[in-house]
Amino acid sequence: MTRPTDTADVDIPTPPPAAERAFLGGAEGKAAYADAIDRARTHLVESFASIEGPYAGTDHEALRDRFEEQPVMPEDGESLAAVLETVADDVLADSVRVHDPGCVAHLHCPPAIPALAAEVLVSGTNQSLDSFDQAPAASVLEERVVDACCALFDYPTGADGVFTGGGTESNALGLLLARDWYCETRFDRSVRADGLPPEWTDLRLLCSADAHFTAKQAAHHLGLGENAVVTVPTDDDHRIDLERLDATLAELEADCRHPFAIVATAGTTDFGSIDPLDALADRASDRDLWLHVDAAYGGACAISGRLRPKLAGIDRADSIAVDFHKLFYQPISCGAFLLRDGDRYRLLERNAAYLNPERDDAAGVPNLVSKSIRTTRRFDALKPFVTFNAVGRAGLADCVEYVCDLADAVAAEIRAEPSLELCCDPELSTVVFRYRSDRLQQAAERSDSPTEDPIGRVNHAIRDALLADGEVLLARTEVDDTPALKFTLLNPRTTMSDLRDALEAVLDRGHALEREVIDSA
Ligand SMILES: *Cc1c(COP(=O)(O)O)cnc(C)c1O
Repeated sequence: MTRPTDTADVDIPTPPPAAERAFLGGAEGKAAYADAIDRARTHLVESFASIEGPYAGTDHEALRDRFEEQPVMPEDGESLAAVLETVADDVLADSVRVHDPGCVAHLHCPPAIPALAAEVLVSGTNQSLDSFDQAPAASVLEERVVDACCALFDYPTGADGVFTGGGTESNALGLLLARDWYCETRFDRSVRADGLPPEWTDLRLLCSADAHFTAKQAAHHLGLGENAVVTVPTDDDHRIDLERLDATLAELEADCRHPFAIVATAGTTDFGSIDPLDALADRASDRDLWLHVDAAYGGACAISGRLRPKLAGIDRADSIAVDFHKLFYQPISCGAFLLRDGDRYRLLERNAAYLNPERDDAAGVPNLVSKSIRTTRRFDALKPFVTFNAVGRAGLADCVEYVCDLADAVAAEIRAEPSLELCCDPELSTVVFRYRSDRLQQAAERSDSPTEDPIGRVNHAIRDALLADGEVLLARTEVDDTPALKFTLLNPRTTMSDLRDALEAVLDRGHALEREVIDSA
């Protein structure tokens, strides 16, 4: 390169001091990186070792006060060692410990150790899946992992998919494609180019009353509005009621509406219930509707020979949402969207000169940005790849089966305990129940104000008291408009004895709190 002869008045910039301290490259960079990761690891391991129980119990006001004092963007930095000390004291100490056997609240898993090692590599290499030239091996490996997922659900060749940030994104992607495909095939309308067709106010999608709220959220985001979602009642096991579904479809047709998709749930968030997928696939194929299966939670059954029959018919779905950061034990975020007929991705196709010009497509270069609603995207596929290869499918299946067995066993104990009420037989690994002693039941019968229902109040208070004590972290939900408690069992190290302790804690708090509630009534 020839330099301009007269550079006298151009300042040649030199790297700033932070470049050496805070970035990889060169011997100092490598040493700084190794030191940083070692320190982070040491703090993490110490916090696991020194703190007991799932949560310290600090409330949100105390945490706000604490962080009020904390500088966020100081002018000058201090040593990383000092910053990490602060983080350990102020943040790690008041984090939920997802690996604690008493952490049984949400679909919020303890991450598998191999995935945590992979996570270090994902962030350290910082590949971006939006173009091959930002993530060469990662792009091709993600394609491989997606193919393996398609095979896991018995999808035919030609199926395709992409990693997502989770069920919310996968459901949105499924319903976006469903809507655009319907408008193309029925109205000869490209929604991408021309927006919604004049018939848009009649577009409807169906799901059960127990489906995840993201079906409605997607309808909102797609410009259809939440009222485009028709919810069908469920049976006693919280699965979509097929007779009511048929009646609803007939009504929609009689009213000249345009139902375009059925969202089936394979593992509802509260009950783990699985809609009858084969029967829904029959309805969808009879009417040429899109069947999307939200298997965010229950998709993990596919790896277990014993649990797999629960998903019978899933291979007939047009699209599937599956979360790896739930029952597949992957650190957040990690999910996948799978599409039975990969050609339908043409509805999303987009070529940008700087990322994926058309001539690259012609040459077969991976083009993952056209399969996603994101642009920059993490290499999350590495995490299940490393986990499956280290633990094995059978090893992971044992974990999934174990937590489902544990749910059945704890449900049996709840059924046998007179002061507890089991709300539904477990289908997967959640157990929904209430504290309901005779005394509380009698108080409820005397009370005529539904807003002051003593059973609901006591169950709410039990959950709040346990959160404040940090002894057991369980979740709350509502069944038939009455508050209930929920165990979500994901941790393969949780034992029956841990769960007996948790039930004891519920009973203890229940006895104490019912006295207060009844006396104040
Ligand atoms: C968790 C969940 C979702 C939402 O998925 P995210 O990964 O949290 O975005 C959707 N549907 C079901 C059934 C879920 O359990």
